[in-house]
Amino acid sequence: MRTSLAVLGGGPGGYAAAFLAADQGLDVVLVEADQQLGGTCLLRGCIPSKSLLHLARVMGEVDQLSSDWGVEYGQPQIDLDRIRNRQQGLIDRLSGGLQQLAKRRQVRVIQARGRFQDSHTLELEGDDETLGEDRQLQFEHCIVATGSRPVCPSSLAVDSARVMDSRTALNLAEIPDRLLVIGGGYIGLELGTVYARLGSKVQVAEMTAGLLPGVDRDLVKVLHRQLDQLFDGPVMLETEVASIEEHGSHLEVALKGASGSVHQQYDGVLVAVGRAPASADLGLENTEVAQDERGFLICDHQQRTADPAILAVGDVCGEPMLAHHASFQAKVAVRSLQENTPAADRELVPAIIFTDPEIAWVGLTQTQAQEEQKKVRPAVYPWAASGRAQALGRTEGMTRWLVDPETDRLVGCGIVGAGAGDLIAEATLAIDRGCHVQDVAEVIHPHPTLSETLSGAAEVYLGTATEVYKPRR
Ligand code: FAD
Repeated sequence: MRTSLAVLGGGPGGYAAAFLAADQGLDVVLVEADQQLGGTCLLRGCIPSKSLLHLARVMGEVDQLSSDWGVEYGQPQIDLDRIRNRQQGLIDRLSGGLQQLAKRRQVRVIQARGRFQDSHTLELEGDDETLGEDRQLQFEHCIVATGSRPVCPSSLAVDSARVMDSRTALNLAEIPDRLLVIGGGYIGLELGTVYARLGSKVQVAEMTAGLLPGVDRDLVKVLHRQLDQLFDGPVMLETEVASIEEHGSHLEVALKGASGSVHQQYDGVLVAVGRAPASADLGLENTEVAQDERGFLICDHQQRTADPAILAVGDVCGEPMLAHHASFQAKVAVRSLQENTPAADRELVPAIIFTDPEIAWVGLTQTQAQEEQKKVRPAVYPWAASGRAQALGRTEGMTRWLVDPETDRLVGCGIVGAGAGDLIAEATLAIDRGCHVQDVAEVIHPHPTLSETLSGAAEVYLGTATEVYKPRR
């Protein structure tokens, strides 16, 4: 088999690259090890987790109805089979759609595991009947989009169905009575939220001194307060899990914290301590591709690796490991195959944590500004001042611009609150297009919506906010 472009991996990086390349007239073969297209994002990541988080949010809102509004529904009856069936139906529908889109674009999809034999040949392993005897795919260029997988340190690697990673946790095999989430990153907190709403008593152990390392503390503080109410006791910070042992019907977990070691019993453990590149068995040693010490593929801004025939996109290239970043890089990679098109010179990647409340940010963070000693002025709009947030009973949030005080340019935005993830899109556009704080302040935002908190925060900076008294400096 021969093709001009082979794409290895059918997640949001791989299928975006394959589809765009086909649209540009290239002959494309997409090699995916899984039976379905969609990758981590669709099959065991973004989409199934966000579907369950929607369920969790609605359940939380129903609770709020009875506590704050005087409307009672009684105890929820949870039918796990129906939830699982709905999840699978959603995945099948979207994955089937991708398969159709590949067909219409005449992208040949091969279900096989690919391994580089050399810089222009992939060896294919798998049962795809269309392959016949031919197990070699020769290509002019290849885009590697093999993604990432959950990390599990050897001390936590216990062969028990009670010890889950993000993938198995999303299967909802059962709802353990007592669940320990190891890792206070976004995956642990999102899935912890789901299990807590479905009835588990959830505890979280995080090795560092704060949840969501790297995220601005003022945003995290608001979420942390809510999680302390949702979870069973405060998050255990600076706490390391030394060992997990299965004893009959429960797990015995040794936790090492600042005040010493304790042993606790749980019915389930979710290990969410990070992700590693899926690059170990790709035969990269048969190519000129260079990797960093953790195995991530090293690329330039056009997604080219050190091997002239091979490009790479998505999680396999490192942080930020996000689906929209993978598909953005896919487009850059395909453009860079067309020599006459310049590559994008900037990358502004919004990030969202889909907990309740959500946290979203884009551009410069306060933490980065401090580290890089960049002068920025924050402008905060507290959601308690928003009529919409008051009407929803969700006043805990805040919207914060970071502004360059010399130019009045918007350089960063952080939002915490219900639906923050949808609001960050406006901030992304404003920062990406080089808007000044006046641009956002002067645009009429519809009332009553949470989008007004963006223009409100801009007005706070200018000292013209109606609902927040903050005189101009
Ligand atoms: P992947 O989606 O991992 O796809 C890689 C594909 O390559 C896989 O299908 C794999 O089977 C295939 N493959 C690997 N090796 C081979 C081989 N040798 N041959 C053939 N095929 C191979 N991101 C967001 O932006 N928003 C979210 O809300 C979000 N939520 C998440 C929730 C969870 C629980 C997890 C785990 C992740 C989440 N992510 C989220 C991250 C997101 O899923 C990834 O960033 C994204 O899927 C990366 O895309 P990718 O194309 O690089 O790789």
